[in-house]
Amino acid sequence: MWGIIATWRMAVEGITKADEMLKEGADAGDAIETAIKEVEDFPYYKSVGYGGLPNEEMEVELDAAYMDGDTLDIGAVAAIKDYANPISIARRLSHEKVNCMLVGEGAEKFAHKEGFERKNMLTDRAKIHYRNRVKEVQQQEIKPYSGHDTVGMVCLDTHGKMTAATSTSGLFMKKKGRVGDSPISGSGFYVDSKVGGASATGLGEDLMKGCISYEIVRLMKEGMHPQEACETAVNKLDEELKERRGKAGDLSLIAMNNKGEWGVATNIEGFSFAIATENEKPIVYLTKNVDGKCIHEVASQEWLDNYMKTRTAPLEEK
Ligand code: ASP
Repeated sequence: MWGIIATWRMAVEGITKADEMLKEGADAGDAIETAIKEVEDFPYYKSVGYGGLPNEEMEVELDAAYMDGDTLDIGAVAAIKDYANPISIARRLSHEKVNCMLVGEGAEKFAHKEGFERKNMLTDRAKIHYRNRVKEVQQQEIKPYSGHDTVGMVCLDTHGKMTAATSTSGLFMKKKGRVGDSPISGSGFYVDSKVGGASATGLGEDLMKGCISYEIVRLMKEGMHPQEACETAVNKLDEELKERRGKAGDLSLIAMNNKGEWGVATNIEGFSFAIATENEKPIVYLTKNVDGKCIHEVASQEWLDNYMKTRTAPLEEK
C-alpha cells in the first residue's frame, strides 16, 4: 500500500508526482519532498514558497518542517528568507543529531554552507498584494492577517515508511519573526510509522494550543480511524477555544494511518484537500463540518477551473 494526503487544492500537482514515484517503490521522504517542492516552486500559490505573501515589513519569511516516521527524526526552519526550497533545508536538518531546528539568520547560514539554492522569494505579484492590503487596512479597517494556507502532507510508501512535511509563508502581514504551528512538531505535523501521521493548516496560534497533529496521532494509536481521530481532535479543540476564549481560529487537519486509510476535519467552510493512494487516483475534495461530522465531496470540474483562473488572473493595483 502507498498513499499521500495533503492540505488544499494547491497540492494536487505535487502529490501526482509523488504518486508516480510511490508506485515505483520510492522512499516516502523523497516522494514528500518532491511534492512539497512542486508547491513551493509555483509562483501563483501565494502562501507557500516562491510568490508567498510577505510579512509586515514586506519580506517573505518562510517556515517548513520534515519528519521521518521510522526514526522520528525532525528537521525544521523558521522565518528563513531568500532560499528557494525550505522543505529541502528542513529535510537536510533532520539528519542532524542536534541543531535540527534553525531560525532566521542561522537557518540561512546553514543553507548557504550546504549549497542550497538562493532565490529572492518576493514576486511582483506578492508586492501588489502587499500594497493593496496596506491600503485596505487603512481605508476599511479590515484584519490584515486573513489570507494564509499552509501545505502540509503525510505520506506512506510501499516499504511501510511514513513521513510528514509542511511549508508556508505563514500569516500574511505577520510580524517579523512570527512563527506559526507549521515548523513546530506536534502542532503543524507529526508522524510515527507504527501508527500514522497528521498535518495542520489554519491559525497557527490556535492550532498550537491543542498540539493537534500529535493529538490526532495519539487518537489513532488508541485505535481510532483517521477520520474519527481528526473529527474528535478538531471538534474538541474548537469547543475548548470557544468556551475559554469566546472564539476559535481556523483549524483544518489531514491524517493518514499506516494502512493508507485517511481522514480530514475542519471547522471552516470549503476546506480543500488532495489525496492519492494505491486505490485512488490523485483527486481533490472539498469538505465541510455539519454538526461535528465532516462531509467530503469530490471537487467539480467547474470548481477546479475557477480555482486556477482566480489564482492566475491579472492582479491590479487598487
Ligand atoms: N498555520 C499557518 C500559520 O499559522 C498558516 C496556514 O496554515 O494557513 O503560520
